[in-house]
Amino acid sequence: MNNTQTENSKQSKNRVLSGIRATGRLHLGNYLGAVKGMLELQKDPNIQTLYMVADIHTITTPYKVEELRDNRRQVVLDYLAAGLDPEKSVIFLQSMVPQHTELSFYFSSVMSIARMQHLPTFKDKVKQYPDYATMALLNYPILMSADILVYKAGLVPVGIDQEPHLEVSREIARKMNELYGLDFPEPQRFATKGEYVPSLKGEGKMSKSVEGSFINLTDDLGTITKRLSSAPTDSGKGTVTRVQNEKGKTVTTYTDQAGSESIGVKSLLEFVELFQGTAKRAEYETLYESTGIRYGDLKKELAAAIFAELKPIQEKRAQLEADPAYVDSVIEAGAARARVIAQETVEQVRTAMGLG
Ligand code: AMP
Repeated sequence: MNNTQTENSKQSKNRVLSGIRATGRLHLGNYLGAVKGMLELQKDPNIQTLYMVADIHTITTPYKVEELRDNRRQVVLDYLAAGLDPEKSVIFLQSMVPQHTELSFYFSSVMSIARMQHLPTFKDKVKQYPDYATMALLNYPILMSADILVYKAGLVPVGIDQEPHLEVSREIARKMNELYGLDFPEPQRFATKGEYVPSLKGEGKMSKSVEGSFINLTDDLGTITKRLSSAPTDSGKGTVTRVQNEKGKTVTTYTDQAGSESIGVKSLLEFVELFQGTAKRAEYETLYESTGIRYGDLKKELAAAIFAELKPIQEKRAQLEADPAYVDSVIEAGAARARVIAQETVEQVRTAMGLG
């Protein structure tokens, strides 16, 4: 066993992998659902954290070449500005480690077409882009499994929307282990408090592809205020109902005086909890059932709280933008480190499958 192999087998149980597609600036959903978890795990010296920009995943939906080229860099800037630290984490672009795509092809031999076609995430994307139902899109979860398993990562900080893909990763790990005697872990999701950040429009989740649904990490106070001002509300008064779901989680519902469910208020109060705390949300709930919430004031305070969290990130980003050579060196060094680990896994798999 050489030194690299020793390092690989020693650390594989404690490895973490995550990534974000290069589709634009990061929004609060990416930040709270993924980046916060990435930061949390980066603090643990017993864990090796690998964080990539999922640029190959970006081509699974329609995109523009020039925008992709720029966005890959923008995501790295957002990562570094938010606190990902190249001294503690391996930061790189997915396309700089070709072992991901090689492994994904091997993995595709153990998954059926039907299994992939039935995934809710695949069906949603086909609905969204009916003329773009490509093999790349169908393969998305297999490539994601390769992203994780090429590092034998056991923990993946991503939002709850990625759970069906992680289920695929676990299935692939089991099948590869059974068929070829490999030792892949079954990756688990590392959940944050913001594992599901709602859309500002009330309905659905915050998403880059839905205009009016998101706040970006780079938004200034004026933009945040403007984006929040169009979030739907109600008369300010009604009833609050709390029920436990089958997973033991409390689900809160707001019903206005006309008897309609106020999903916009639910979203707003979730943002209040995420940025101003549980006690503040409880205060608003008390007001909702008594004298009423003044949404103008609520949104103003919330905008200030969100901006207070984003301001230091924006200041750091401005410094990083002025130093492109540093950013390049981070990516190059990260990719070189990632390739060493990835190559060892790919060699193991090739040998086990009769290709070595
Ligand atoms: P994507 O932009 O689809 O590559 O997503 C990157 C990461 O952000 C993944 O971990 C997602 O689960 C997470 N994410 C995206 N939108 C949200 C959201 N609204 N709430 C929580 N996490 C999210």
